[in-house]
Amino acid sequence: MTGLTPAAQRRERILREAVRQGLLDREQSLLAAFVDLDGVAATVDSLHRAFPSAPRVLHAFAAKANSLVPVLAELRRLGMGCEVATAGELARSLAAGFAPDRIVFDSPAKTEAELLRALDLGVTINADNYQELARIDRALGDRVPVSRIGVRVNSQLGGGAIAAMSTATSTSKFGVPLADPGSRRELLRAYRDRPWLTWVHTHAGSQGCPLDLMARGVAEAVAFAEEVNSTVGRRQVVGIDIGGGLPVNFADDETTPTFDTYVGQLRAHTPTLFSGGYEIVTEFGRSVLAKNGFTAAYVEYTKSMGGRPIAVTHAGVQVATRTVFNPDAWPLRIEAHDGGGTAKRGGPVRQDIAGPACFAGDLLARDRALPLLEPGDIVAVLDTGAYHFSTPFHYNSLPEPAVHGVRTSDDGRVAFELLRPAQDPWDVPVPDRSGHGRLRRERAHEPAHGVG
Ligand SMILES: *Cc1c(COP(=O)(O)O)cnc(C)c1O
Repeated sequence: MTGLTPAAQRRERILREAVRQGLLDREQSLLAAFVDLDGVAATVDSLHRAFPSAPRVLHAFAAKANSLVPVLAELRRLGMGCEVATAGELARSLAAGFAPDRIVFDSPAKTEAELLRALDLGVTINADNYQELARIDRALGDRVPVSRIGVRVNSQLGGGAIAAMSTATSTSKFGVPLADPGSRRELLRAYRDRPWLTWVHTHAGSQGCPLDLMARGVAEAVAFAEEVNSTVGRRQVVGIDIGGGLPVNFADDETTPTFDTYVGQLRAHTPTLFSGGYEIVTEFGRSVLAKNGFTAAYVEYTKSMGGRPIAVTHAGVQVATRTVFNPDAWPLRIEAHDGGGTAKRGGPVRQDIAGPACFAGDLLARDRALPLLEPGDIVAVLDTGAYHFSTPFHYNSLPEPAVHGVRTSDDGRVAFELLRPAQDPWDVPVPDRSGHGRLRRERAHEPAHGVG
């Protein structure tokens, strides 16, 4: 039997302490998620160190990857900005205390009201298309914007392994195409006619895209910025927003690729980016949070079907939506722990790990070799700090689980802080007919004499 890796030892310590403190409990708290805040700090530090300090760089965390306000506030304290793509994410970024000039608003569907709000606040805006630019023209009138404004370009270089995650295909829904006939010239005119268009934005990812493809996409954006500046005869474009999209290794505890590796690729493909002529914005999401979070759930029942053992757990489609609906693209590692949180050491048995939802596809893993799970054991679902428990799916009225931040002191002591309370399934939202269609919350009661 091999020993546990340092990361696995850390998870074991966290789980044992979580059980001891009642954060995981077979009656009250069947499912909970954990964010390793020390790990987040180390990751953000590695991001800052990977990029040169000059020219000015703003690392804007992509809020959709984990939009819990205390998580965003922690990232702000660690020196990051925030990239938002909806009014809801903008509201959360402001609630987390980000200064407007450290917020970047990207969305392919910004409304007029959202644009006015963003311009009033002075939030950076990346326009997605010409119709949006026309709205910005009207909103500005003769005003010079406080906001930095750019246009999202699509290099149309091609996609990666996951179609739904590929933004740089020839027919992607995002941005203005650079390679379509006549398109580049039209965009150059748009920049020439608008001296306040001073940024170029691209986001050429994400999960499943080779680094070299991403770096070539950024190189196309930089080349376009150079072309604008030489066309207008001055340095109108002063910044490049290179987007996020660094893929994450879901296969083991190693962090690969690193931010350093990506910066190396960027230097190779577009040295101009680091020449000092451009400020840089980045928008990493998954690579900042994914490996710093995990989800834990009790096994409720086990059974055998068609000769295969199945463990029915409380973690499924509500916290691992992409994995359940697209298991080949989004496989997740699972660890088996006993009910006290200690890693199980039995020999591997191939089994299915199922979620609680009432549809047959609600499986976290199929035919996975793990120590045989038993009722009352805990499964840990790894690398779920981004796009998983923070983005719950409300199928079957399954409640959002609590999310706990974890810090470990030098002597190994584990301290928790609540990042999101568990949703109470008995707290039922119902429309309030008297009050302008708002929701009121109604406390449902279990029938006093049982059902039926
Ligand atoms: C989703 C998104 C990101 C973050 O992508 P990750 O793969 O999580 O790094 C950054 N920028 C834009 C515009 C996005 O849509």
